[in-house]
Amino acid sequence: MGKVIEFPTPNYFGDCPKCGRTDGYLNISRDHWFFCDRHMTKWWGGSNWFDEWKYETEDIWFENFKKLLQYQEVEPWFRLTVMEIHNSGSEQVVLFPPGKDKSRSGE
Ligand SMILES: [Zn+2]
Repeated sequence: MGKVIEFPTPNYFGDCPKCGRTDGYLNISRDHWFFCDRHMTKWWGGSNWFDEWKYETEDIWFENFKKLLQYQEVEPWFRLTVMEIHNSGSEQVVLFPPGKDKSRSGE
């Protein structure tokens, strides 16, 4: 395992494809949904990356679900978000979560 550097601006889990921003995420059970309020977009960020869903209630998830129901599911836009510095000193750029980025493959 190398040292992971997070770039400050882009979201680790992708950004709104229309504006490149995110307003955060909401949990529905263990699933994390990121969203953009301005464009009413949402995209799935994965499951169980963050622990706080364990302390939330079904009522909270239902409120989140109702809000996100109005949002359009989109493919997130990934910037270069994470750079992994391996112990050998070589640098490798990794996208996170692995395999979620389709737009960048083949570039
Ligand atoms: Zn947006």
